Amino acid sequence: MTYTHLVIPQNGQRITIQNGKLQVPDHPIIPFIEGDGSGPEIWRAASRVFDAAIQKAYGSARAIVWMEVYAGEKSHNLFDTWLPDDTIAAFREFLLGIKGPLTTPVGGGFRSINVALRKELDLYACVRPVRWFQGAPSPVKHPEYVNMVIFRENTEDLYSGIEFEQGSEANTRFRELFKANFPAEFAKIRFPDTVSFGIKPISEEGSKRLVRAAIHYALENHRQSVTLVHKGNIMKYTEGAFRLWGYEVAKQEFGDRVFTLLDYNAVKAEKGEEIANQVQEEALKSGRLLVKDMIMDAMLERTITRAREYDVIATPNLNGDYLSDALAAQVGGLGIAPGGNINYESGVAVFEATHGTAPRSAGKNRANPSSVILSGEMMLRYMGWAEAATLIIKGLEGTMAAKTVTNEMFPLVDGGTLLNTTQFGDAIIQHMDN
Ligand code: NAD
Repeated sequence: MTYTHLVIPQNGQRITIQNGKLQVPDHPIIPFIEGDGSGPEIWRAASRVFDAAIQKAYGSARAIVWMEVYAGEKSHNLFDTWLPDDTIAAFREFLLGIKGPLTTPVGGGFRSINVALRKELDLYACVRPVRWFQGAPSPVKHPEYVNMVIFRENTEDLYSGIEFEQGSEANTRFRELFKANFPAEFAKIRFPDTVSFGIKPISEEGSKRLVRAAIHYALENHRQSVTLVHKGNIMKYTEGAFRLWGYEVAKQEFGDRVFTLLDYNAVKAEKGEEIANQVQEEALKSGRLLVKDMIMDAMLERTITRAREYDVIATPNLNGDYLSDALAAQVGGLGIAPGGNINYESGVAVFEATHGTAPRSAGKNRANPSSVILSGEMMLRYMGWAEAATLIIKGLEGTMAAKTVTNEMFPLVDGGTLLNTTQFGDAIIQHMDN
């Protein structure tokens, strides 16, 4: 592969994938985008944490060889493009990457660089673990009950960007076509003359690969349950189909490794609730994974009142967006929630801060670097470098438990000590040894 703007480091090797398994050399080249706004200072703190954790875990036997790639404002200033082809090609070639937050260009030709990256690389699973760290301020009584991993479908749903703006020529054409071919459906539109349209594609392949990834993850990581979150009571052939396809994958591909709510309901219909409860209890005791489903609105209520009952979540794109932020708020806000965008077949994965560029903090060295740091922690685990990942968790747990916090948390933590971005990274490194 030849690149126009990128320099490939000579002292590292490529990560590859063979038979669905990542092959990670001891000195892998990993592309990174530092990000806009507060991104560069967050990246400086985060990359020091990654290097320190790897050094502490493996001595000089392993190290990441970082390779800068570009997107967002920095790319726009340097190369007059918000997302160079080089960057997409580098993520494809080197498989893994990590990025800070990017400014969404206004009138840049696409809605969001993040959405464009996910689409170009077909990163269909947006994986968002949400857990509480002792010491983090929270608006709920029991933030420790939140320990979930959201698998949000990343390539379909209302995010497809298929919309027809009211008053546009495309809207008129679409409306006429719709009216002529589907008069009964057209008649359901309350204000047909002033309507804007949006299309919500949800496919069998798209839903099944996402649910497959979620169940796989849950089994590998010994989680208790997978909940399919949908709004199928209203959107029967999109969200409702997501639910049905999800159960199909569970049954057909994971067979006796799972116990589903449909199994439960079948026993209940035939033999009553008590027997159904017994059968479920035995199935779970024997190590089967529970696969259940929940309507989206009820789920938002449950995440506050009964968070302990939920573990891995699989859900279409828009629900996943709402749910991720609502859960992040319970455990200390967006500054600490990490994310990974993954295609489990190609192996390509881009880990990223889930917050934006925090422009008001830019250049002040005060933003919380935890989201990027925990995204790196996910990346290390995905690479199989679990020892280094565990040190990062230990370091962050120690830092938060000591009530040493960054600017946005400081007013909310009684007796807390304020650290800047650099000091927060240093504190994590120090706590790795405690
Ligand atoms: P934002 O996430 O940047 O800020 C929302 C609030 O959260 C602000 O009060 C901010 O100060 C705070 N915040 C965010 N990250 C923080 C951190 N690490 N530490 C402490 N506080 C933090 O969202 P916004 O203001 O709506 O968007 C700013 C820019 O970022 C826009 O251009 C937007 O399009 C972009 N954006 C990018 C991503 C991404 O790259 N993943 C996500 C969301 C928004």
